[in-house]
Amino acid sequence: MTTTVRATTRTRRPAAEPYRPFALRVSRVHRLSTTFVRVTLAGPALAEFAGHGLDQRVNLLLLPATADHEAFAARPDWLAAWRSGPPASWAPLRVYTVRAFRPAALEVDIDFTLHGDSGPASRWATAARPGDRVVMIGATHGHRVTDVAWRPPAGATRLLLAADETALPAAAAILEGLDRPARAFLEVPHPDDRLPIGGPATITWLVRSAGERLEPVLRAHLDAVAPTAPPTAVAPAEDDIWDVPEHPTGSFYAWLAGESGTVVALRRHLVGERGVDRASVAFMGYWKRGRAQPN
Ligand SMILES: Cc1cc2nc3c(=O)[nH]c(=O)nc-3n(C[C@H](O)[C@H](O)[C@H](O)COP(=O)(O)OP(=O)(O)OC[C@H]3O[C@@H](n4cnc5c(N)ncnc54)[C@H](O)[C@@H]3O)c2cc1C
Repeated sequence: MTTTVRATTRTRRPAAEPYRPFALRVSRVHRLSTTFVRVTLAGPALAEFAGHGLDQRVNLLLLPATADHEAFAARPDWLAAWRSGPPASWAPLRVYTVRAFRPAALEVDIDFTLHGDSGPASRWATAARPGDRVVMIGATHGHRVTDVAWRPPAGATRLLLAADETALPAAAAILEGLDRPARAFLEVPHPDDRLPIGGPATITWLVRSAGERLEPVLRAHLDAVAPTAPPTAVAPAEDDIWDVPEHPTGSFYAWLAGESGTVVALRRHLVGERGVDRASVAFMGYWKRGRAQPN
């Protein structure tokens, strides 16, 4: 498994914009398992990409294959250009995790969950071949940006991660960089999706095809890994699928990412039923069942 590279240490001139489009080409495609394909994207533009490691997210803009990706990425008005015309005509934009960044090779790995051809990103990754082009929108050097959600308090000793397959690349990158023990619960569709992950964490794999699900197993294990206190916080609203506390505190920290219904239920259990401080819980709905990611 490739190790995720943290922020590069070279001194660079700050770019004008905190985020910019990078016109990239697929350099390799490697099927990791039944569910996952690793697509390696490369290009000289990545010299300006600021790799932050952990669960760093980027946007992939799936322009038509016939588009001039380089010309698009060079446009100062790329955002307006992308959004010209009615919203239904906009090229799909989807959020992904940088599984690894190799600045010396000017390459990033993105691990795609293949979920059929109902979504443009899954469709694109299924068909991806070396030479295919894509635009990645990501951070540039010299700016404070919030593209990483993993922010445990420095003194937190009880770390909990829960993820489904869409958040496995993010969880894996976090777990491989950990400097202290953690407890991770990772749900994947098939047995061979249990990809090797290094680091000091204790990982419990849950295989959906064997009937194993994140929510009941995590609830059953929580007595051992999470504190209990009288419940005080209010449950999140129905459409509240993302909260990453700016300044988490305490010795316990939870990072929950995956299908929205599941992470909302897990967060409600931790905060609403077990009384965990909501400032100690980052929860992120990475996708919504039956709903395409909005552009
Ligand atoms: C911060 C962040 C990081 C992410 N990182 C990754 C990553 O590294 N790898 C990764 O694979 N995904 C990742 N995702 C999730 C990914 O963005 C979504 O799964 C996205 O919806 C996929 O786009 P699509 O075009 O394939 O499907 P969409 O057009 O968005 O959806 C089409 C249909 O497919 C369904 N669908 C979407 N995703 C799945 C799925 N995984 N399984 C089953 N049905 C699905 C939708 O409910 C909808 O019905 C991340 C999301 C976020 C917010």
